[in-house]
Amino acid sequence: MQATRKIIHVDMDAFFAAVEQRDDPKLKGKPVIVGGLPNSRGVVATCSYEARKYGIHSAMPSSIAKRKCPHAIFIKTNMEKYRAVSKQIMQIFLSFTDLVEPLALDEAYLDVTENKVGINSATLIAKQIKKRIFAETKLTASAGVSYNKFLAKVASGYQKPNGLTVVTPENADAFIDNIPIGDFFGVGKVTEEKFLQLGVKNGKDLRQLSEETLIREFQERGRTLYQNVRGVDERRVNPNRKRKSLGKETTLRENISNIHDMLPIIERLSENVSERLQAQQLVGKCIVVKVKFADFSQRTRRMTLDNYTNDKTTIFHYAEKLLHEFNLEDQSVRLLGVTTTELASAQTSRRKKANIKVYEQLKLF
Ligand SMILES: [Mg+2]
Repeated sequence: MQATRKIIHVDMDAFFAAVEQRDDPKLKGKPVIVGGLPNSRGVVATCSYEARKYGIHSAMPSSIAKRKCPHAIFIKTNMEKYRAVSKQIMQIFLSFTDLVEPLALDEAYLDVTENKVGINSATLIAKQIKKRIFAETKLTASAGVSYNKFLAKVASGYQKPNGLTVVTPENADAFIDNIPIGDFFGVGKVTEEKFLQLGVKNGKDLRQLSEETLIREFQERGRTLYQNVRGVDERRVNPNRKRKSLGKETTLRENISNIHDMLPIIERLSENVSERLQAQQLVGKCIVVKVKFADFSQRTRRMTLDNYTNDKTTIFHYAEKLLHEFNLEDQSVRLLGVTTTELASAQTSRRKKANIKVYEQLKLF
């Protein structure tokens, strides 16, 4: 048996929107939406807590957000600025431990079992991290402290904003009992509905299901759920995690057969992939589109580009091409996915910027 680990998950509160509110006092206390402008086909990247009161959330089309809150202030995403703040935050993390695994610009796991400041209490370290983030960036973060990644991550989202939640081995079962089923790792909207139909609303209900049932219904994900609901998650905090691919797929609420109805979804997926690539300073060379049909059979089509990219317009452009290549002709589709593979670091691929410019020129003509 290994000793109990001490894991912290730190997540900045409404990161992009909070940075904009910090830099422009006129935006304080107002519904601020960072992402696509309302007259575009873009989506919300992050919105302020004031905007969330209107039911606005990230990945929602900006046009819908505008309808929900007509007086919201829309701001274009300024990745350069957020990346600079992200660097400051990551430096703070690294002053406590080298075991930092960033998940996004504003989010990371830290393993502080052994740490550089000689503090035994992970809770105390989390407090110091939050304090330093505020002192150096004037921004708030929420932290979750626990003995594995799963619990630390759920805990950081538990009392947002500016929260600190600690889940010890002693209080873990009580904490897990109350986790909504949709907050478990790997449970998306469709899986959540399936669970709700089975009468499983939270961790307490989930723990009643046998491992066999979970694996039968949800395959490998079911095994993970069986472990997580018992407070087990052995995944290491890996500072050198190298991604081989990065993608996003979505099961449709209803099957669709019209390619014109699929395109906005492909666009949203492309945007999500682009944002995550940029957040992790990655670029990809190969674009893959996956289609799963009503009978659960699936097909993928891929295209290798001449150059690396993480630009959303470029990814969408090729994903759209690939979708047309399927010749779907009224076939009923239940899932769509966009993935980039052959990833490289954006820093070592400075050609990236030039490529995007060329592409934008092409589009003008
Ligand atoms: Mg965040």
